[in-house]
Formats: sequence, structure tokens, C-alpha cells
Amino acid sequence: MKDTTITRESSFDAQCAKFGELLDLGKPVSAKVMWSAIHDESYARDLVINKRRPFYLKRLLENPPEVQSRHKPEHHHTNRELITSAASALIRWSKSGFTKVDAKILETRENACLSCPNMVDPERFIQKIIPSKTISNKIGERTGNHICDLCGCHIGKKIQLISESCPDKHPVKEGYTRWNEPKKR
Ligand code: SF4
Repeated sequence: MKDTTITRESSFDAQCAKFGELLDLGKPVSAKVMWSAIHDESYARDLVINKRRPFYLKRLLENPPEVQSRHKPEHHHTNRELITSAASALIRWSKSGFTKVDAKILETRENACLSCPNMVDPERFIQKIIPSKTISNKIGERTGNHICDLCGCHIGKKIQLISESCPDKHPVKEGYTRWNEPKKR
């Protein structure tokens, strides 16, 4: 098994190479893709979730979203803040292995999203090109291509991953999220 672990010590170029390995590209991702993935968690997540869908992966790689930052990607070799930021944005995913939740947790999470005021239609191009199954009554397909307005993630993808958490607090249960899971510190 390939070592795709991204650590805080990895250089920016090493992270491009590691992220390319993680996506099974056979080459590093571009600095622009890496830069966007670092600063846009939903973009990074979409890249990984769609790594087995060549058509969508290619579109995502060709259309990295513009991100706002004080720093420019061409300064990355000397920019410690960028490297630290990159590591913290991606380390969780590379370690989790993108493990999926079981059917019970999936249903609980989905039920919470379906009754949540933060569930909205996709607006951004990147969000719109991500494939989603048509809405059906089947568990895991009931949110269609809706987005969580708080984190910008595709809900149908987000609720499947064990490493993910709901960004909103539970309406009545202190210390818990809307998914009825303890808040992550
Ligand atoms: S992830 Fe949480 S905040 Fe977002 S739509 Fe689902 S329940 Fe609402």
C-alpha cells in the first residue's frame, strides 16, 4: 500500500506529490490545485471522493476554485504558514482513509440534514459539476445534490465519511452537533 500520509513536515512540493498519489494520478497535482485544495476543504474532499470517476476528477483538476489569501502560491517554498496550513487541511483525510459510516449512522445523519435549515441548492460551479444521484427514498440518496450552507459540502458525500462532522450545534443537546454526535474539539 502506498504511503500517502501528509505530515506537517512535508514541503509544498512533497504535498503536491503525495496528494497526486492519493488521487492515483501517477504525478503530482499542480500547485494551483494544491493551493485551492488547501484553502477550500470542499474542493479537496470532492477531489478525493471522485478519484474513481475519471471524467469528474479531470473536470475538478482543470477547474480549481479561486481562493482568497494574503500569500501567493509561487512563494510556497519559503512560506511556513502555507505549509502548516496545507498539512492541517489534509492530514485528517489522509489519515482517516476516507472510511465510510455504517447504515445506521448514515440514516441518522441524513435525517438531520433533511430537517436542517442549512441544507440548500448548489450554487458554485465546482459544486454543480459533482455527480450526485437523483433524489430517491433510499437511505443515502435522499439529499440529492444539496449542499450544506455552513461548510459548502455536498451533503450526500459528506454524511458518508466517518471523518466528517456537522458544523452546526444540536438545537437542544449541549455539546452535540445536529447529527447527534459529540462536537469535535
Ligand atoms: S451537515 Fe449539519 S449543518 Fe449542514 S445541512 Fe447537515 S445537519 Fe445541517
